[in-house]
Amino acid sequence: MSNERLVYLDNNATTRVAPEVVEAMLPCLTEHWGNPSSAYGLANAPARMIETAREQVAALIGADPRHIVFTSCGTESNNAAIQSAILCHPTKRHVITSAVEHSANIKFCQQLEKRGYEATFLPVDLDGGIDLCDLQAAIRPDTAIVSIMWANNETGVLFPVEELAAICRSHGVLFHTDAVQAAGKLAIDVQKLGVDFLSLSAHKLRAPKGIGLLYVKPNAPFQPYIIGGGQERSQRGGTENVANIVAFGKAAELALGHINDENTRMRALRDRLEQGILQTIRGSVRNGGGEPRLPNTTNIGFDGIEAEAILLLLDREGICASSGSACTTGSIEPSHVLQAMGVPLSRSKGSLRFSLGHDNTEADVDWLLEKLPAIISRLHDASPDDPLGQAEERLASAG
Ligand SMILES: *Cc1c(COP(=O)(O)O)cnc(C)c1O
Repeated sequence: MSNERLVYLDNNATTRVAPEVVEAMLPCLTEHWGNPSSAYGLANAPARMIETAREQVAALIGADPRHIVFTSCGTESNNAAIQSAILCHPTKRHVITSAVEHSANIKFCQQLEKRGYEATFLPVDLDGGIDLCDLQAAIRPDTAIVSIMWANNETGVLFPVEELAAICRSHGVLFHTDAVQAAGKLAIDVQKLGVDFLSLSAHKLRAPKGIGLLYVKPNAPFQPYIIGGGQERSQRGGTENVANIVAFGKAAELALGHINDENTRMRALRDRLEQGILQTIRGSVRNGGGEPRLPNTTNIGFDGIEAEAILLLLDREGICASSGSACTTGSIEPSHVLQAMGVPLSRSKGSLRFSLGHDNTEADVDWLLEKLPAIISRLHDASPDDPLGQAEERLASAG
């Protein structure tokens, strides 16, 4: 990139690692490099550091540290919860999820369908919300697990996890939630939520990529997904990624320390960004309901324009945003989330997600608000099938 300025508005894709987190993990890569399971003194420090991190991440979600299983990522945590439920209930051949999950769930459940299981993908309305009656109606005697995300990564729309968990409990069905986007942005209390399983990923929380966790409620049936040594109380094999675990713990501690302030600050910045766009750019529409929503996320459609073209021109100004989830960027398929919401194709193809984070300032938002209108009108002028642009041209030529 030629531009020196970097305005990173894609914090739902990943976050920059906090300096305090880098500092906390470095000793695990230098002096405390031993295998935490070994029987000599060199193992003591890394083993202790893992347990401190376990307490820190447990505190973030109101859990007992003994119920935390460290994994390699959010994707693994989601896969592990669903896989465990079907292994623990061999006669149950049905799973329920939603149509707007992360691909970690959508693709896993599609894979299960190929293996002879049945999967229900619950629909959402135009606001991105789920109807609790749809869940009630979908649960069957052979349903092994229901897995529904807390916060949608593309729109920020929140699902009523506590109610969803209660419905599942009343039917005796296991409930998992992907809370990857909620972590650090909303207060989380697994006891109050009443979930059996909950996934987090560290890199959405100012820690490095490649570390996640699965909360497993006490006495919930569980079988490991990665089978190997006796690490993680035999719930996840593989030598612990000590440095990343320590980083995750530190990031959780930082997040918990400013959760309320950050929530307020993000919301104000997000609203400035969202209102700034909706009020100044004709044809721009927010995708998804306003509330309840993550404080840092907005998803806006620009009718009749290709999102990829906007992203390219934003990138030249040093601005990073996203069209749909990062995992599908590169393919020209419109976002499965916006499609499930029933957003018209001409808008979903021109939709961008802006997601703010700890490092963003008002100056970042103002830089975007300064650059975006010209980019959109330039693309409108270039777009041959843009009804708004054509209408304006006709008006102009009609004098
Ligand atoms: C990023 C993300 C994941 C995947 O986490 P990884 O650690 O990248 O595997 C899962 N679910 C949601 C909602 C996400 O935003």
